[in-house]
Amino acid sequence: MPKSDNLNPLINAQKQLKEACDLLKVDSNVYELLKEPQRVIEVSIPVKMDDGKIKVFKGFRSVHNTAIGPGKGGIRFHPNVSLDEVKALSLWMTFKCGVIGIPYGGGKGGVICDPSQLSARELESLSRGYIRGIHKYIGEKQDIPAPDVNTNGQIMSWMVDEYITLSGGHANLGVITGKPVEFAGSLGRNEATGLGIAIIASKIAKEKGISIEGAKIGLQGYGNVGSFAAKHLEKMGAKIVAVKDIDEKALFDPNGISYDKLSQYKEANHKIMGFGENTQEISEEDFWKGEYDILIPAALENAISTEIAQTIHAKVIVEGANGPTTSEAEKVLIDRGIDVVPDILANSGGVLVSYFEWVQNVAGYYWTEEEVLERQHQKMSQAFDAINQLKESYQVTYRQAAFMNSVKKIADVMKLRGWY
Ligand code: GLU
Repeated sequence: MPKSDNLNPLINAQKQLKEACDLLKVDSNVYELLKEPQRVIEVSIPVKMDDGKIKVFKGFRSVHNTAIGPGKGGIRFHPNVSLDEVKALSLWMTFKCGVIGIPYGGGKGGVICDPSQLSARELESLSRGYIRGIHKYIGEKQDIPAPDVNTNGQIMSWMVDEYITLSGGHANLGVITGKPVEFAGSLGRNEATGLGIAIIASKIAKEKGISIEGAKIGLQGYGNVGSFAAKHLEKMGAKIVAVKDIDEKALFDPNGISYDKLSQYKEANHKIMGFGENTQEISEEDFWKGEYDILIPAALENAISTEIAQTIHAKVIVEGANGPTTSEAEKVLIDRGIDVVPDILANSGGVLVSYFEWVQNVAGYYWTEEEVLERQHQKMSQAFDAINQLKESYQVTYRQAAFMNSVKKIADVMKLRGWY
């Protein structure tokens, strides 16, 4: 049993990549080319705070690989952002775009800050300052940011506005995705990651002989990903029996927690504890131990350590967050017969609909919600089937199959381009 988990997401991401390269028996240059991002920018962002003092924030933007297309990936605002985290997240984005089959490489950005401590004016100033720092290196055909943890459509709007101003007023609206629908966004984008989780959860449930109708779901994280996953799973007839958000404790109700009611409560109170209704409050330990059909970690990296993995009783795990399971924990889960559907497949709905948004921006022609949803269902369902088949034929884990599928596509293009 491993003594302790490696919590550096870059080391974990590189391990996953190396495993796939070894299983595929690709040229050793492939790993060499893919183990680190192609470009990382670090910027200092001075913000005049409401008290008149200047505070300098640190931000990063990483582009991992551009063999297939421009960099693509979100920007997060969080106190724990670090250079290695941003690098790892950009690496995962490359393989996520590969798995879901969209013509991008991976990118990711982050700013070290606690947005809950910033006023709206300070947040706007920080968002614009970040774009001033990186604007020469982003663009519709270069690197395309989007929302991630603690960023949203309003923040994307300020960023696009700043970018357009700095680039001489040219309305390159496809420079950033995840914009509000009123401002060149796509219908379906806001709920896309959560809907994608529900689509993949229903696919794996079918594979395991679990009926999604009445399936018991444990959900960690109730932000953009977790809450909309709950909404769409509930629509499919599943029961969200336990939810844990940022508070220490979790909510439990064997009859299912209502998405509508819990979302209204969180909107008003900025937390889920104290929700009441028929829910019981349970400890964090009991949350992880719960007898779920599907457990969905939809918060941050390293949520599931080996210690937690040993106590999990879910039939299957579907990763909503990026990197929520440590490599060591995944081994424990696999040994215990619990499959993990990896982030790069399960949460690819967000970037997929970002791609649809970008296509609409570039074409200047907008789709109906039905068109977006139908294409999302189709693409995600096909991606799951392809990975499932690869998993069976190579007798590997879902993560290994997803990485193998994606690494192969990128390695082939790098070869054609003469990179190795
Ligand atoms: N931040 C999301 C992710 O991690 C979405 C990225 C995008 O839409 O570009 O996949």
